[in-house]
Formats: sequence, C-alpha cells, structure tokens
Amino acid sequence: MGSDRKMITLALSKGRIFEETLPLLRAAGIEVLEDPDKSRKLILPTSQNDVRVLVVRATDVPTYVQYGGADLGITGKDTLLEHGSQGLYQPLDLRIAKCRISVAVRTDFDYVSAVRQGSRLTVATKYVAIARDFFAAKGVHVDLIKLYGSMELAPLVGLADAIVDLVSTGNTLKANHLVEVEHIMDISSRLVVNQAALKLKQAPIRRIIEAFASAVGQES
Ligand code: AMP
Repeated sequence: MGSDRKMITLALSKGRIFEETLPLLRAAGIEVLEDPDKSRKLILPTSQNDVRVLVVRATDVPTYVQYGGADLGITGKDTLLEHGSQGLYQPLDLRIAKCRISVAVRTDFDYVSAVRQGSRLTVATKYVAIARDFFAAKGVHVDLIKLYGSMELAPLVGLADAIVDLVSTGNTLKANHLVEVEHIMDISSRLVVNQAALKLKQAPIRRIIEAFASAVGQES
C-alpha cells in the first residue's frame, strides 16, 4: 500500500474528468491547491492536509486504485469495461464526462449494406474489448486494429472501414466527414474505491462518498 494510514489519496486524470470533479470535491469541502495544467507535480495538495490528488493517465486510474496506490479514483465506464474492474468497489455513477461510445464510418461508406451482405469489416479502435463484444453480439465478422488515439483518421486513409470511439457533440466526426451508425452505449464516469482502503479508512472515505452522492443527487 502506497499511502499512509491517515492520508486519503484520490486518482484523477487531467482534462474533462479533473474539471468536472472539482465541484464534487468542493461539495466535500476539498479544494485542490494546484492546477495540473500549470504544475508539473503529479501529487497535488488539497485544502485538507490528509487528502491528496494523484494525476495519472485515464487508463491507469483503475490500476492505481486496484493495487492501493490510491484509495479512490474517478474513471469512465469505457475504461472500466476495457481494462477490467476486478477488486474495485463502484459505489457511484457520478454522471460526469458524459458521452457515448459509437461506431462511425465515412459518409460515403454504406454500413447497412455491408452488414446486410455479411461483409467482413475492418474496425480501428482503442476499445478492442468493447468493439469485439459488440460486433460478436451482432454476428458481424470484424478484423480489429488497435489504435491509441485519433481513431477518426483511420477510415480517411483506408486503414479501416469503421471506428469505435467516444462521441460527445459529434463535431469531431463531422469535421472529418464521418457519420455515427451505431450507438453502442452511454458512458459516464464512476467513483471507484479500493476495497481494503474502504475497511481501513472507513469514516473519511464514507464521508467523501456521501458528499459526492448528495452533490450528484444520488443515494450512496
Ligand atoms: P466531440 O467532437 O465532442 O464528439 O468529441 C469527440 C472527441 O473527444 C473524440 O476524439 C473522443 O475520443 C473525445 N471524447 C469525447 N467525450 C469524451 C470523454 N467523456 N472522455 C474522453 N474523451 C472524450
């Protein structure tokens, strides 16, 4: 266990999740004292001496929490599905960083006909497990190409027929002449908790869970 017995450590990723978590922390009486976009620090102090924030990659949040490097973390349902959530207690859907995971193709690609004809599709995605399960359930044969970013590029240069990616406003798809053809699922971010930490630091962790729950209008 990385953290000491009294310290509460929360793992967050920069960007959308960090920004949308600040009001929830504020509801729990916690102010983060440094801006991760300006500071090079990876451990940020807060207005509470016994609470600190780790800045980690979004896909690493479940790992930090699972192995006790952090007591709590906030991560997207997409990350939990793709990377697994073994040993993590998931008390709350925080309803932040909302988006959907979709299949998109070039506007000039006839996806419906390709599926109807039983064509084999090449699909580029960061979400290989989610894509594999989705197309298997539909009975569509796919060759999956794993990418780590800018999935939208793949159909434009002939690397793939389709992509599976997160969509929020749809502006990125539109700007790249892509169109959404399947809505796989809605995504939002969840609070995840290390189960041993929940037992050892029950009172302070419960307080944070309850403050977050009331801030997002849910029962904890
Ligand atoms: P948009 O243009 O608003 O549809 O956003 C699409 C781009 O933002 C894609 O490159 C997505 O991978 C990324 N994106 C959208 N929503 C999220 C989210 N909640 N978390 C992380 N990335 C996202």
